[in-house]
Amino acid sequence: MLIKQLRLSGFKSFVEPSTLRIEPGLTGVVGPNGCGKSNLLEAIRWVMGENSPKSMRSGGMEDVIFAGTATRPPRDFAEVQLSAESDDGDELEVIRRIERGAGSAYRVNGKDVRAKDVALTFADAATGAHSPALVSQGKIAQVIAAKPQERRMMLEEAAGIAGLHVRRKDAESK
Ligand code: ATP
Ligand code: MG
Repeated sequence: MLIKQLRLSGFKSFVEPSTLRIEPGLTGVVGPNGCGKSNLLEAIRWVMGENSPKSMRSGGMEDVIFAGTATRPPRDFAEVQLSAESDDGDELEVIRRIERGAGSAYRVNGKDVRAKDVALTFADAATGAHSPALVSQGKIAQVIAAKPQERRMMLEEAAGIAGLHVRRKDAESK
């Protein structure tokens, strides 16, 4: 799957609708402290169905909605739209929207769907919210600081073979 475009509105520090095109290959995000680099990565995870407040660096789910500043009023909703192309070449457009007091709603290719359907769309670990293709801040330092055994586990997880150890242990115990 190839992420092609991201559109954010009212999501964290992205108050006004902002559109970002993502070109094929490796994409890096650079900018001064606090400009919203991490928020961008969180937006990708969020639209894919991420619900863990820790991953979103928030207390509650509504904390992703622009909270306002000294000069700007808060927003009452946040919306992220992700346009992607599947490996088969099909266009995929996913929208997640959260309104204060009303929870999240999802649309896939223009149809209202359940959170579960979005989770299924990104069920493959290689493309979902926990994909090793999304490298967040601190992850690089974590890899460098890890003990050799831990680092091997990270690499195996990224390569998608971590599950093999579980299956080997299972087979050996029989
Ligand atoms: P660094 O280089 O320090 O890692 P960064 O570019 O990753 O910075 P982010 O952490 O993405 O920056 O953005 C932080 C900014 O987003 C802060 O200014 C914070 O106030 C703002 N922010 C986060 N959530 C909200 C929200 N709900 N409403 C308004 N602003 C928010
Ligand atoms: Mg950051």
